[in-house]
Amino acid sequence: MRSDRYRPDAPPYLLYGFLGISLVLNIFMALDLGPSEDPGVGALTSGVEDAVVAAAAPEDGTAAAAIASNSVVETIQPEVVAMDAMPGAKSGWALVRGEVDHSLARTFQTEVGDQADAVAAVYSRLFMWDLDLRKDLRRGDAVVATWRASDDGEIEIPVAWFKSQKLGRTLKAYRYQAPGDAYASYWFPDGTEVPLRLVAGPLDDYDQITSLLKDRPTHKGMDFKADVGTDVVSPKAGTVTRVNWNWKANGNCVEVRYADGTLAKFLHLDKVSVTEGQHVTSGQLLAKSGNTGRSTAPHLHYQLDRGSKNIDPLDYHDTIRRKLPASAMDDFNKEVARLDAMLGEPVAAR
Ligand SMILES: [Zn+2]
Repeated sequence: MRSDRYRPDAPPYLLYGFLGISLVLNIFMALDLGPSEDPGVGALTSGVEDAVVAAAAPEDGTAAAAIASNSVVETIQPEVVAMDAMPGAKSGWALVRGEVDHSLARTFQTEVGDQADAVAAVYSRLFMWDLDLRKDLRRGDAVVATWRASDDGEIEIPVAWFKSQKLGRTLKAYRYQAPGDAYASYWFPDGTEVPLRLVAGPLDDYDQITSLLKDRPTHKGMDFKADVGTDVVSPKAGTVTRVNWNWKANGNCVEVRYADGTLAKFLHLDKVSVTEGQHVTSGQLLAKSGNTGRSTAPHLHYQLDRGSKNIDPLDYHDTIRRKLPASAMDDFNKEVARLDAMLGEPVAAR
């Protein structure tokens, strides 16, 4: 998945200290240690926590209970996959295909090997809009995906299916760049986008939302992975209350008090365009996104607070799911067919 070019500079001691799960997670997940007001964010483990899917890691005792996994993983040989149709492809894609018996982590761990948690985390992030793969697993659920690690350690997943007993259907996500979009996204076969979008959000162009409030109690914002220099606008009219406070943690940052009293924080910015006391209108440029403060990969941390209450942007904002334009569907359908061909015969998820 080319969207997952998340390359925080993982601290060297991790590289040398761990060759296991935490290393893999840290390599490609945002090591967003967050603003100082986030309790517990200073912990070294927070890089792991910031994996959108701590989901993939067993977090409760029950998850540790071993249940035999029927996971089957097969490696697709390059000659089987249409490698020449995969731009930049150098190494083979692996196919993960199996039933989920008790945890997604176990399903991947059984066969994927060292990269299991990383692959499971990226996979789970695709479906977090419809399912919490920590809680919503049922016996008989099934996983199908192709993946590979790029030369620099990024996990790429161009196509993934999840057969959900809870939903009673199979979710199928295909990576595709819509006309006019700055980044590729994931789309269902009918051309509906997989991830939700905030209506009047702080960024128009971003690669991916990599962290939701519900994923990690100690992380109080929504993280948008975006190249440094992306426009960050004020979702609502308000007044700039603070700029660049607690720089060590927050980096360049802006706080805006919306008219309804909600305090919005925009952290890890590059260039800030507003000053304290300034009135801003909805949609007005606040800053360019960056990678400053305790952030190890370019992203925007967007946080909403009212009084002592932390608010989920997904609750505060209206959300939408985009549709590909009709004019793009022919091209998209070809891509779907090409990606489906990489899955071979994934009987388990049909
Ligand atoms: Zn964050």
